[in-house]
Amino acid sequence: MPIVFSGRAFRVEVATRHYPDGREHEVEVVRHPAVVVLIPVEADGRVVLVKQYRAAIERDTWELPAGGIEPGEDADSAARRECEEETGRVPHTVERLGEWYSTPGFCDELMIFYRVSDLREPPADSPHQPDQDELIEPRLVSLDDARAMVRRGEIVDLKTAFALTLV
Ligand SMILES: [Mg+2]
Repeated sequence: MPIVFSGRAFRVEVATRHYPDGREHEVEVVRHPAVVVLIPVEADGRVVLVKQYRAAIERDTWELPAGGIEPGEDADSAARRECEEETGRVPHTVERLGEWYSTPGFCDELMIFYRVSDLREPPADSPHQPDQDELIEPRLVSLDDARAMVRRGEIVDLKTAFALTLV
């Protein structure tokens, strides 16, 4: 499909496509690499949420840690790396829970969900450092409190609300 925009985070394609019913439609598609979404669970059952500024909606949000899979990296390794970068803790248990598309109406972004636990301090010589362009503040909350934050509108991120139903 012809590319009309190509940026750092995604590209946009526009093309005329034949649908199964025989009709033609001009379609606009956002191509976005797959991401991992983490549910970090501490020994006491609390989960780690991170607060970050989201420029697209011009506000702070509370979310579960998430991030892109880097070229040449497998999803499990990305889950370990993102956990350390965003929460400062290394998961020794990594469980893949499943994968779902975030917004198939216009975007091919696949989200791969993980429960990560047995969280420990990183080794002193760890190569992973906090992301420079992400201002992130972690917070531990119980699952009940996190779900109440969704109902009260304090969590507005859909992948986070969904992930809290998986554990
Ligand atoms: Mg991130």
